[in-house]
This record gives sequence, C-alpha cells and structure tokens, in this order.
Amino acid sequence: MTRPADFDARLDRLAGGATRQANQSAHAALTDGWLEDDALPPDQWVWLHVPPSSSMPVTILCERPTSYRAHYCDSNMHPCRGFQSCELCARGIGAQRRTVLCVYDLRLRALGLLELGDLPSQALRAYSEAKGMLRGLTIALSREGQRPRGRILVLAPDTNHPTPPDPLPQSIDVAAALKATWARTARQRPPQ
Ligand SMILES: [Zn+2]
Repeated sequence: MTRPADFDARLDRLAGGATRQANQSAHAALTDGWLEDDALPPDQWVWLHVPPSSSMPVTILCERPTSYRAHYCDSNMHPCRGFQSCELCARGIGAQRRTVLCVYDLRLRALGLLELGDLPSQALRAYSEAKGMLRGLTIALSREGQRPRGRILVLAPDTNHPTPPDPLPQSIDVAAALKATWARTARQRPPQ
C-alpha cells in the first residue's frame, strides 16, 4: 500500500504544529518583564467578601460589569444554560441576575473580584449612572444590620476613605475568571 503523496508532509505539519504548541505552553508561564497583576491565571483571583462588621471601600476597575443569570443550588451559584437546555430551570429552581466586577479593595490594597446580587447591582447601576462612570468609581459596601448574611448595601464612600492607587490598575478578564471558577466548582460539586 502506498501512502498518499501528501501524507508525510501532513505528518510533518502535524508534528511541527504539536511541537510549536508544546513550546508555546511551556513558555506561556514566562513573562518578559515584571509580572503584572492581570497576568495571573484567572483561577488564582481572589473573590472578595463583604464583611458584616465594617464598611468595605473599593474602587471599580472594569469599564463594564459582567452579568449572568444563575441558580443558587447546593451552596453554589450555577450559571443558567438557557431556558431550553438548563436542568435547573427544568427543576423549577428560580434564576437570579448576578453582576461581577473587578475591584481594588482600598483597605487590603489588593485586586479582587466581587459578585453582587440583583438589588445591590441595581443600586450600583443607579449610582454609576448618576456619576457617569464605572471604572474609577469608589463605593463602600456593607451588610444590612451588620449581619454576616445581611443584604449587601452599596453606598457612597466615607470622605476619609483610603485613596485609590494612581494610576489605577488594569481590570482582569472577569469573564475568564468566572469561567475558571465555574469549572473548578463543577469539578468539586456537580449540580444534582
Ligand atoms: Zn437555568
């Protein structure tokens, strides 16, 4: 049996492609220069939690929010796959709107991700539209009644809040971080 004329060439191309891919992934962890915050893998990002005891001032870094619909089930948020193909919708578990932001925590002096439910999202949207900005906007987050599971309140910051860094750090890729978080959650605890 004879090989098709282009067989070896195809094999070489495949091998070459595989080698190049391997080289790329081997080099992907190297950064030429200082490692910037937004160069970290998205699954290493910190999800910030609003404490019950005190107000948390943050400066928003993303230009736009990232939003999705989700079901709360088995102690986790599961993104809705769409009404037609979502098993959680089919089970009648209600979906809710979620908003995710990349923020700079002014007291921790650190970047993080923040996820808000519907009501705080609406409050933030109104405040953001009134101020005419999202990136660069500083807000104070607190818990209603200072309870650990109290509703998150979005307020104008105290006048004496710590100043944001100048220049403001770049936002990370929020969608990529969300997908990485979902992938990790799905591995740990698939929806029942
Ligand atoms: Zn659904």
